[in-house]
Amino acid sequence: KPKNRLSAQAYIDGVLAGDRVILSRAITIIESNLESDKTLAKDVIQGILPASGNSIRIGITGVPGVGKSTFIEVFGKHIINQGYKVAILSIDPSSQRSKGSILGDKTRMEALSNLENAYIRPSASGDTLGGVANKTAESMLLCEAAGYDIILIETVGVGQSETAVHGMTDFFLLLMLAGAGDELQGIKKGIMEMADMVVINKADGDNVRMSEMARLQYQNALHIFPQSESGWEPVVTKASSTKNTGIDRVWDEVVKYKQLVTDNGYFIKNRNHQKIHWMYNNINEELKHMFYASENMASTLSVLEKAIISSEISPIKAAQDIIETFKKSF
Ligand code: GDP
Repeated sequence: KPKNRLSAQAYIDGVLAGDRVILSRAITIIESNLESDKTLAKDVIQGILPASGNSIRIGITGVPGVGKSTFIEVFGKHIINQGYKVAILSIDPSSQRSKGSILGDKTRMEALSNLENAYIRPSASGDTLGGVANKTAESMLLCEAAGYDIILIETVGVGQSETAVHGMTDFFLLLMLAGAGDELQGIKKGIMEMADMVVINKADGDNVRMSEMARLQYQNALHIFPQSESGWEPVVTKASSTKNTGIDRVWDEVVKYKQLVTDNGYFIKNRNHQKIHWMYNNINEELKHMFYASENMASTLSVLEKAIISSEISPIKAAQDIIETFKKSF
């Protein structure tokens, strides 16, 4: 067992007691790639599981520069003022970027991070989106068990990570800017379709009129999508994170949403669906890991790569051969 490790029970007790230092250390275990830590992590998660789940999980996305950290700072404070504890996690699948964001995170959301009822954890790093997403989802359970009522999960990357965040949250919030075309904002139709709420951010100063136009435009665009299974009609509003306008409205809509989906049963249904999906996600990640980490795999693969390039073997045959070899290794 590596130095500085507590017993699983000590992590469980500390997290359940709301000890932030232990919570951070437990998340470090979750994020670790050491085999011994993986076992420890599973025991810790199993132990806190009964105390998890009692939160509203909010996913927040939007292109870099849209104002996510500024928004989260004021939104987080607003939530705390309502008497809740809020935890902020982020998903950033590219390890290259996450190095930058860890540095950046020290100064990001500074006012919020000083508050007793806020907990901010920079993104886990990792090679695969699935792996990072699994770690973030487990960190989320730990935060819930530590007594955080509202979990904000921010996407730092652009692209696939929105789907991962949507897959682990109850409410999906998309921040957008007026005046920038959809193309420019890198927002695909599929992401718009996932949104429970679209907030046109930076609706301040000279930008207010444009923001109202954008709001109407997106409102109309969202009407075209088929009604979501949740029974919720997505809302489009404008806000200014720097002037702190429209932020309370976002929270009000989250509360309304929670009420609706609790009453109509969608909240539980969606959570159950996500849990099952999460199992498959873990199976996929673990299988991939076992396969690529198994003995001689790297050297066999490089031999096959050469054979494929020289047309000695087809890519399909190569894949079949190596999987046969892998199966025999059990
Ligand atoms: P992120 O990359 O999405 O996290 O965006 P940031 O929160 O770092 O914000 C990017 C820039 O936009 C910063 O210079 C912010 O000060 C600015 N900004 C954020 N929100 C607002 C807003 O509501 N109004 C205005 N005018 N500027 C904003």
